[in-house]
Amino acid sequence: MHKEPKGVRLLNITKIYRDPKTKKDFPAVDNISLDIEPGSFVTILGPSGCGKTTTLRIIAGFESPDTGEIYIGDEAVNALTPNKRDTAMVFQSYALLPHYNVFDNVAYGLRIRKLPKDDIRASVMAMLDMVKLNGMEERMTNQLSGGQQQRVALARALVMQPGVLLFDEPLSNLDAKLRVNMRNEIRNIQRTLGLTAIYVTHDQAEAMSLSDQIVIMENGKIAQIGSPRDIYYRPNSEFIADFIGEANFLKVIIEGEQNGRLKASFDGIPLEMESPGNVEQGSERKIVIRPESIRLQDTGRIPCKVIVSTFMGSYQYYQVMTDDTMVIITDYNPRSRKIYQAGERAWMMFDDSALHIL
Ligand code: ATP
Repeated sequence: MHKEPKGVRLLNITKIYRDPKTKKDFPAVDNISLDIEPGSFVTILGPSGCGKTTTLRIIAGFESPDTGEIYIGDEAVNALTPNKRDTAMVFQSYALLPHYNVFDNVAYGLRIRKLPKDDIRASVMAMLDMVKLNGMEERMTNQLSGGQQQRVALARALVMQPGVLLFDEPLSNLDAKLRVNMRNEIRNIQRTLGLTAIYVTHDQAEAMSLSDQIVIMENGKIAQIGSPRDIYYRPNSEFIADFIGEANFLKVIIEGEQNGRLKASFDGIPLEMESPGNVEQGSERKIVIRPESIRLQDTGRIPCKVIVSTFMGSYQYYQVMTDDTMVIITDYNPRSRKIYQAGERAWMMFDDSALHIL
């Protein structure tokens, strides 16, 4: 029953705002280009104020960029108003019509399109079924919980069969457990219907669990685009490594490069990892290693002293010092592991495959 999903292309988009206090202009979105595949789920992730919502609103047509072009499918849409673009948006605030019941809220857009009554009824009922609100058609929106209201908002967007579905932090007002349920349902519906979805969030767990591709923004620019695995294991900056999950940074000296492998040393200890190319022998660089990639043992690769050792249930949390660097370790399934106490000496053990150069 669904239309073909559409891709989205942004070309050199810039949006300048004026800071009302300092009266200075600044780019909220700074020359970004982005290609979104039809049928993919893409999240835009980044700290508050980095330009996520502005980017989404530019795609929807609620804001117009100062420079750059927007394509939805093959169509240049800069000059089109939001209702002429093949998009629908789900807002953080739900934005439901308060004096309408659930059915009428979902049917609203189809009635404006003047579709036959029977078709409207069939489409609305199918979408209410999809978001698990069957039987609730007659309820007024103020008789619904936050989660149910967000389902209505989702059904209202889905029923329009948009080529691109846009989400602006849709789950922020829900409690933690409901958020997890809803994000799984959103992902299922997107897969079932084969929709293109662009989803703005500042919640990294949401971005990791939903996305085919994550776009990380920082100060109006795109800092990295990649799959959740790429972004997690191969962050291209300290900012990204720190923003997604927890990260340890070790300073290493570059020893050389051979067959795409990089040889480096930490405090004289040899390490090897994939080479990014373009490295200068003898230079100092930082590498990243995730806390769960390290285990503590009686012998291993890098000696350390345990500073903090805390039982967390599913893992033992350690802070250790090595050389003059503090390293965080999450040693999982501690019941089957030797536990080291604060003050003890130990060795860090890890695979070279866990190392990534920045
Ligand atoms: P958040 O996660 O807090 O919603 P965001 O990444 O979505 O943040 P945007 O809402 O896109 O950020 O805003 C980007 C920057 O532009 C911020 O510094 C914001 O204060 C500023 N901004 C947004 N709208 C306007 C406006 N109408 N006039 C002036 N500045 C604005």
